[in-house]
Amino acid sequence: MDAGPGGYFNSSTLFKTSLLTIAFSTFYIYETKKRATLFKPVIVKADTVVTVKLAPVVAKKKKTIYLTFDDGPNKGTRKVMDIMDAEKIPATVFVIGEHVYGSKEQRAIYDSLIINKLFEIANHSYSHAFENKYRQFYDQPDSMVKDFARCADSLQLTTNIVRTPGRNVWRTSTVNSTDIKTTSAAADSLQRKGFKAIGWDLEWHFTNDQKLVQSDTLLLQQIDSLFAKNRTKMPNSLVLLAHDRTFLSPADSSALHRLIIALKKRDEYNFETVSQYPGLN
Ligand SMILES: [Zn+2]
Repeated sequence: MDAGPGGYFNSSTLFKTSLLTIAFSTFYIYETKKRATLFKPVIVKADTVVTVKLAPVVAKKKKTIYLTFDDGPNKGTRKVMDIMDAEKIPATVFVIGEHVYGSKEQRAIYDSLIINKLFEIANHSYSHAFENKYRQFYDQPDSMVKDFARCADSLQLTTNIVRTPGRNVWRTSTVNSTDIKTTSAAADSLQRKGFKAIGWDLEWHFTNDQKLVQSDTLLLQQIDSLFAKNRTKMPNSLVLLAHDRTFLSPADSSALHRLIIALKKRDEYNFETVSQYPGLN
């Protein structure tokens, strides 16, 4: 058959078709081999047992409460220790140097505190602001700093965390706050000397005859509310201020115990000592 000029199947066309077929076949074989390599099955020996241990999923408690007790050691301190021991809850005690050396009994209480792993000891000055002469104390930053240093040195404290007597002062890497502005210069001096001051978000108030003002149920509501409204100095962190001496009475120590039990029942709350506060650790 004569393939005319318009015919498609001349020898040249056949040659080109053959070349294309060879090229495609080569490419197909190459690709198939490549895939076989990529999806090579993993051969596991029949007698090999692989055990993967998965960590239990524990919901992290997001909100942390820092329980702090000021002005010890005194007659209420052992009550606080008994409750924290019973509930296995950590707390921070801001001690006064003069109180540690005030009597044999107070010294013995202090000795029990320092060996109790639930408690962290922090500095509440040596003289409690020259025995509550707040104005004079904060008007003399140098002697004020010396008073904190005396407490730290005499008790050989390992922390630089302090709480200023009678003033809600914060000097940490994350919070800078002073409730009474005339205290600012003194607070800045403390910070310059390497101390970190931590105040409080909520106080468990007491009357002149050392009785608690808020009931434990009211205090629980206040704690819940401060967290819910994000009215703490740092989100999800609440520092509670209480005073050891108010828990001497059985009625008030029972209130503290009920509060701790109620807080523990709220699964969202975790407890830490103040050295774990954001910006302090
Ligand atoms: Zn105090």
